[in-house]
Amino acid sequence: MTTPKKTLMVPCPSCGEPHPYSTDNPYRPFCSKGCQAIDLGAWASEQYRMAAKPNPEDLPEDLIDPDDIR
Ligand SMILES: [Zn+2]
Repeated sequence: MTTPKKTLMVPCPSCGEPHPYSTDNPYRPFCSKGCQAIDLGAWASEQYRMAAKPNPEDLPEDLIDPDDIR
C-alpha cells in the first residue's frame, strides 16, 4: 500500500461521499457548499423546533379578552 499524496479522504457528513479533506475546501468537512447548506439547514430547523416552544395558551389568552377592554 502506497500513499502517493498526503490527501485525507473523509466521508461527507451530509451525503456520505468521500472527498479530500483539504484546507482549500471552505466547506469542509462537507464535500460541497450544497451539502454544507443542507446540514446547516437541518441543524437550524432542528434548533428552531426546539426553540419554538408550543405555548397555545399563552398567546390567545393575551389576545382574547374583549370584555375587559370594553
Ligand atoms: Zn456531500
